[in-house]
Amino acid sequence: MFSKILIANRGEIALRIIRACREMGIKTVCVYSEADRHGPWLEVSDEAYCIGPAPSAKSYLDISRIMATAEIADVDAIHPGYGFLAENAHFAEVCQSSGIAFIGPSPEAIRLLGNKASARDLAIKSKVPLLPGTKDLVEDDKEAIEIANDIGYPVIVKAAAGGGGRGMRVAHNEIALVNGYMQARTEAATAFKDDGVYIEKYLERPRHVEIQIISDSHGNYVYCGERDCSLQRRHQKLVEEAPSPIMTPELRQKMGETAIRLCKAANYVTAGTAEFLLDKNGNFYFMEVNTRIQVEHPVSELVTRTDLIRAQIMAAAGEKLPFTQDDVEVRGHAIEVRINAEDPDAGFRPSPGKITDLVIPGGPGVRWDSHIKVGYSIPPNYDSMVAKLLVFADDRPKAIARMRRALGETKIEGIKTTIPLHQRIMNDANFINGDVDTGYIENVLLAK
Ligand code: ADP
Repeated sequence: MFSKILIANRGEIALRIIRACREMGIKTVCVYSEADRHGPWLEVSDEAYCIGPAPSAKSYLDISRIMATAEIADVDAIHPGYGFLAENAHFAEVCQSSGIAFIGPSPEAIRLLGNKASARDLAIKSKVPLLPGTKDLVEDDKEAIEIANDIGYPVIVKAAAGGGGRGMRVAHNEIALVNGYMQARTEAATAFKDDGVYIEKYLERPRHVEIQIISDSHGNYVYCGERDCSLQRRHQKLVEEAPSPIMTPELRQKMGETAIRLCKAANYVTAGTAEFLLDKNGNFYFMEVNTRIQVEHPVSELVTRTDLIRAQIMAAAGEKLPFTQDDVEVRGHAIEVRINAEDPDAGFRPSPGKITDLVIPGGPGVRWDSHIKVGYSIPPNYDSMVAKLLVFADDRPKAIARMRRALGETKIEGIKTTIPLHQRIMNDANFINGDVDTGYIENVLLAK
């Protein structure tokens, strides 16, 4: 097993990884930017090194600075968390060639699955259901129109290198398509330095249901149930739960086995997520594989009683997974809400600043994954998520009641947060009935 791990990340996920390492007797090394000098997670890390100024490109994304620190601190492995370099095949390759284990899949698997167009191709070969769409990148708007006429409107233009809901445009007609096609390419070029886009059928009112998988280098593949992430704003997740309110054991098995078939075809080792859209009739369609640990992984940990970060570290160290498919049973109900430093009354504008008072919820079935504390100033430079509040209960109604209670206890002063929106969601009749889709927050809840 590793004796020291460098964490190439910040905030709550850095803290989550430190916690897993502590329990495994592994020492941790954090790298941080000048803006994160007072990051509370650094206090619990065994070592911490400043590697550059606030802009990510000069710190959290600077591979040479991270590798220099890894050499100096003499670590065995690097955990990239999510975001930043987590899905960067080149970084995984640099780790490999430096003799440092990358806690994630191989560079080849990241390349194959990280690109949405090549992942689609592999899905076709692996007989994974897909929405109708292009096999190759779309070269110009003329071709885009031909394809849309062929598959029928509405369609969605997606950046092949996309992530975080960026580089996507929905089009209900030809004019919107021509504009959307150009916009998606421009946005993708800026955000991902890759303007390749493809087109697929746009599904109206689907649910977003994803399968958590974890595997080791001994050929063991396990799926840890599903997460329902249908509550989104601008294609970004706000609330996640497990199990999905509309899941059946048969559908779970079918989706789980499909996800594993795809990951096996890519020789995928460690944690990953296969994302699907699910329609009202129980048909599911593959969207993409996220080749990293995801923000919402704790909901699966709660309902399957696993520690995915621990399993991920074990797999990267060449050990066998600590559980088999037979051990993984979905029991109870878990919900996660993402508490962002944003102002819901001002179009969700980021609201960084100093935390002047903080009451952390507790009691039965409550999990708080967050790095914030009183006196800590949230820097404006990074993602606005400041906490993940999770609840676990025997069933969905009890979990919702528990989340209402936990949100009621929570107090974060000094900044605006998404807590009022979450309170609204937990009291919303459609949500309570499990009757939502990926457009619900924008089209219905915020329009009410
Ligand atoms: P990203 O990698 O940017 O997160 P995804 O491909 O995972 O992008 O899609 C994010 C969200 O966009 C989905 O959860 C869903 O709400 C919406 N979406 C993507 N593709 C489609 C589609 N073909 N039809 C309907 N909604 C879609």
